[in-house]
Amino acid sequence: MKHIDENKIQDLLNNAGKAGEDKIVPILNKSRSLKRLAIEETAALLAVNDPRLVKKIFEAAAYVKNAIYGNRVVLFAPLYISNFCANECVYCAFQSGNAGLKRKYLNAAEIREQVEWLLKRGHKRILVVAGESGVPGKSAIEYYAEAVEAAYSARVGQHYIKRVNINCAPLSVEDFKKLKASNIGTFQLFQETYHDDTYRKCHLKGPKSDPDNRLDAIDRAFSAGIDDVGIGPLYGLYDYRFETLAMMMHIEHLEKKFNVGPHTISVPRIEPAVGSEFSLHPPYQVSDDDFKKLVAVIRLSVPYTGMILTTRETAEMRDEVISLGISQISAESKTSPGGYSDSEKWDGQFTTSDKRSLEELVGMLIEKNYIPSFCAACYRRERTGESFMSLAKPGLIKGMCSVNALVTFKEYLADFASPKIKETGYELIERETAKLDEKSRAQISKLFSAVDAGMRDEYV
Ligand code: SAM
Ligand code: SF4
Repeated sequence: MKHIDENKIQDLLNNAGKAGEDKIVPILNKSRSLKRLAIEETAALLAVNDPRLVKKIFEAAAYVKNAIYGNRVVLFAPLYISNFCANECVYCAFQSGNAGLKRKYLNAAEIREQVEWLLKRGHKRILVVAGESGVPGKSAIEYYAEAVEAAYSARVGQHYIKRVNINCAPLSVEDFKKLKASNIGTFQLFQETYHDDTYRKCHLKGPKSDPDNRLDAIDRAFSAGIDDVGIGPLYGLYDYRFETLAMMMHIEHLEKKFNVGPHTISVPRIEPAVGSEFSLHPPYQVSDDDFKKLVAVIRLSVPYTGMILTTRETAEMRDEVISLGISQISAESKTSPGGYSDSEKWDGQFTTSDKRSLEELVGMLIEKNYIPSFCAACYRRERTGESFMSLAKPGLIKGMCSVNALVTFKEYLADFASPKIKETGYELIERETAKLDEKSRAQISKLFSAVDAGMRDEYV
């Protein structure tokens, strides 16, 4: 695969085996100074198995997460628009050969109906998800762009979706430009596996069977002007240490070529999928302990890249792993098109584990002293890609983020929360506001007054 030097990764894995405290502690100290790690350092951390050192890795990851993201956690919901797909990915229920799967794509009206359901719960950010296919009368890009527009156009009173991200098929530069014109936030695309041989064995048919075309898609998205991209391996297809190092190589390539790496990294693990025997026994299933470690190591390796944890993970795992470096979590996800309404149920892509409602997740975050955030301000103020990083790295964005997180949370509490959540939520807001510097407190007091007066969508 282009940009991925498998021999180098193998050497790094072979040589990283025996790092003791004398080698690991200086690496952790480098991370604590919020510097990005070299790939050799990431390899050394991934090789650690001594529980005492793993604990130090977790402590350092929690420190870095707190230093950069504070205690904010952004919430979003996926919106599956179609389960039609031209590819044959062995781990996925949507693979074209899965004859037993009931297929469905949503039209613009059905998309708006789903979004209205999410808006009524308080969602403000969604991730549109689709198989790799057009729909009758429309090419893939025409369908994706219309879907994004339909999602933005949905209204429930004064509420609407502020940021629509998308996880869909790789496109040409030309088509990526059209997708950008539909006003997407992040374009997300997982390489699934960076191991060439494994990739070819897991992607049997269709456009996705070419690993280089997929890897190159992130370059094409950047070339088309989409500078917020999300990447990730699908953990379970090959050795998690290989995948994590290869992803670091991919990031190095992007940083060299475009001056900026991905906006987010996702860490999906394979879950059971209807019609996929493979998904029930992934060849390199990642244990819970290794999963926690890899999240922490990614946090330490690229401190400024957001990290996403989905409802594939159990409630217990999510509650624990957030502290190790996660900045965004999904809520009450359904992986089938139309899954949020009560009408006919279509088949989903895989089984989710954490079934809690948005309100239950908000309650959990409050209890653990995290600020639930619905903020989309950076994207709307065009603080994306390199311009976002140039503010984030010197710490200039932190104050703004806290203010925006608290304001969007206050709006959520006012409009959607039950009395119990309101009570604990307002207490959290009071505690967190007291921690702000004078300038931010002055800013927030004006915004809070506006919210109290019934205005919405306030941000800096
Ligand atoms: N069809 C597009 C693609 O594959 O890039 C985008 C949507 S696909 C529905 C989103 C992601 O779901 C895939 O990239 C893959 O990593 C993940 N996925 C597929 N099957 C899965 C499974 N059984 N468990 C967990 N994640 C899965
Ligand atoms: Fe299609 Fe994506 Fe599923 Fe592969 S992972 S079968 S491309 S929906």
